[in-house]
Amino acid sequence: MASFDQMDLSSVNAFPVLADSTISQTILGFHSSVFSNSVSKKKPGKFDDVRSNGWLDAMQSSSPPRKKMVKDIAIELASDDTDVVYYSWMLKYPSALKSFHHIVNRAHKKKIVIFLDYDGTLSPIVDDPNRAFMSIDMHTAVKGVAKYFPTAIISGRSCDKVYELVGLTEISYAGSHGMDIIFPAKDTISINHTNYIRSTHKQGKKVNLFQPAREFIPVINEVFRILVEVTKDIPGAFVENHKFCTSVHYRNVDEKSWPIIAQRVHDVLKDYPRLILTHGRKVLEIRPLIDWDKGKAVEFLLESLGLSNINDVLPIYIGDDRTDEDAFKVLREGNRGYGILVSSVPKESKAFFSLRDTFEVKEFLKSLVKWKEQMSATDK
Ligand SMILES: [Mg+2]
Repeated sequence: MASFDQMDLSSVNAFPVLADSTISQTILGFHSSVFSNSVSKKKPGKFDDVRSNGWLDAMQSSSPPRKKMVKDIAIELASDDTDVVYYSWMLKYPSALKSFHHIVNRAHKKKIVIFLDYDGTLSPIVDDPNRAFMSIDMHTAVKGVAKYFPTAIISGRSCDKVYELVGLTEISYAGSHGMDIIFPAKDTISINHTNYIRSTHKQGKKVNLFQPAREFIPVINEVFRILVEVTKDIPGAFVENHKFCTSVHYRNVDEKSWPIIAQRVHDVLKDYPRLILTHGRKVLEIRPLIDWDKGKAVEFLLESLGLSNINDVLPIYIGDDRTDEDAFKVLREGNRGYGILVSSVPKESKAFFSLRDTFEVKEFLKSLVKWKEQMSATDK
């Protein structure tokens, strides 16, 4: 919170940037496998631990094949057979671009609200998370969407870091998988929650903060420091502090060292039963054991922004991570809106539609802007 109080929204340099710069990437997808309390009964220091509890299997299968990126266009390297499988999968998860008119027809006389994951959705996957930038075109598209629709970015990264990367003051941000929320203050909002606070940042602009895991900040800092220490001799390992969660990236670590990195993280976590571990894409994620996720963050933001009436509002959530499934589920189960999964490989999802890559995300956002402008022109 302090960093937001002090931030200068006119300058991305006002935000704290994590120190280490060797790095892998920050795609924060999760498998459902969770660091269970039973693990703490095992003796530390043995590789058997991480092998027997499935960590290594999860690490080895944690990232789908990457595509060669040329500018903003994904060049498909897969075989024809793979294409057939993908197109079959799209029967269940149709392209949001091809279904665009269906989507906006459902939005007839409703207010569209846009939720966007960041890594792998707005920015391509890169080895250095500090360099996961949006293209200029994508930035323009997001800004355009934010002009017409309430918009929020929901990411595994810290709120400060997401803001640094996106840089738009007019939208809401939910960092640390929704555990660190900042949204524009509206006088009419009344929220009764112990973790909700109003704040004023440096420029005097009122903002609302909601941080359901505030009590975990000291313990996350403590674990972050320990993880930095225990991984510092492993070339390529990078530990990132997202304020309410922390992550250990191993994309740039030699696979022979994965058992070592898994074991050391495992040994640290056995002393922290209130933290859980989940597997992202070449990243081990450590976060508080609380009943809060991106789906809860979506519900919270809809309610807080006065957009919870499903008769008047159509939320659209675009994301590529396992953690985004919580949000897809909220929208699907309540028949409230549409989840759109960004994926170039077939996978089971609670989303309704799909987009293949960040290029298609950008095209979809641009289509929304164009549609809204045409609607506005017609109304005049
Ligand atoms: Mg993502």
